[in-house]
Amino acid sequence: MRALTFLARRFVAGDDVTDAIDAVRALNAEGLKVTLDNLGEDSRDQAQALAAAEENLSMLRRIAESGVDANISLKLTQLGLAFDERLAKDSLLRIVEEAERCKNFVRIDMEGSQWTQKTLDLFYSLHDRHPGVGIVLQASLRRTEADVKDAVARGARVRLCKGAYKEAVSVAFSDRKEVDANYDACARLLAKAPAPAIATHDDARITAALKAFDAAGLARSDYELQMLYGIRSKRARELRAQGRIVRIYVPYGTHWLPYFYRRIRERKENLLFVLRNFFE
Ligand SMILES: Cc1cc2nc3c(=O)[nH]c(=O)nc-3n(C[C@H](O)[C@H](O)[C@H](O)COP(=O)(O)OP(=O)(O)OC[C@H]3O[C@@H](n4cnc5c(N)ncnc54)[C@H](O)[C@@H]3O)c2cc1C
Repeated sequence: MRALTFLARRFVAGDDVTDAIDAVRALNAEGLKVTLDNLGEDSRDQAQALAAAEENLSMLRRIAESGVDANISLKLTQLGLAFDERLAKDSLLRIVEEAERCKNFVRIDMEGSQWTQKTLDLFYSLHDRHPGVGIVLQASLRRTEADVKDAVARGARVRLCKGAYKEAVSVAFSDRKEVDANYDACARLLAKAPAPAIATHDDARITAALKAFDAAGLARSDYELQMLYGIRSKRARELRAQGRIVRIYVPYGTHWLPYFYRRIRERKENLLFVLRNFFE
């Protein structure tokens, strides 16, 4: 935990994979599954992008060695998508193949809308031959309902979230009610997709998704509810106690600032939490 300042610790499990595996063990002990994320985005050169790929490979091996219940998430700009698509694709393929060897699963996080199409293209270029890879779609984007329909038709594994990036009104809904309505509509569609993941801390969205999944005849083992480390932990445990599959997204690493900033921007109480701790 050396470089990790105390301010980010509520949302970030630690500096390195050893800290992260400790956090996974504690969550697994409570019946919660985990997605591990090595923080990082916007790698600037080949060396940085290759180092990120190596970290993801070693994360998969550490998960297998330690026997914890965790899969991984990564961002394609971390693998070099912004400056070398070929490099990003090669690294993603290596990581997905390693996940297959370890009988694990890789989720490609979705970043800002300038990356949506390239991320989907890269995902689908691997998806048919590699079932151990999944994607994220963001209800805030106007295009997402069509992307969900496409994902359902192609049998893709989707995590549905609202979307954490600031977007132009030309591509995204600006009204929260519209985002919420789109979230519910997309969740209904995902009842027909394999292993849909409902990633939100919003009770109304969770309730609507559960209703849609029940109506479609899905069993509790057919889908996952997902939340972020350090956010609404009590609610996550309540949902688990109802016998639902709950997965916590656990980020670790030293490049925590953009992730931390997005969590603060989402909710002013988080800023108050940070300030209170700072002054204490
Ligand atoms: C597992 C997981 C994976 C994700 N992956 C991606 C991704 O790949 N790409 C992407 O763009 N976004 C991702 N996100 C982030 C997501 O898009 C939202 O930015 C974030 O989850 C906040 O939206 P919400 O759905 O929780 O609803 P909101 O409307 O923001 O919040 C609903 C309620 O949840 C609680 N809550 C929400 N956020 C916080 C918080 N930060 N602190 C405390 N309480 C809070 C509050 O009670 C709030 O009223 C992911 C989220 C999760 C849970």
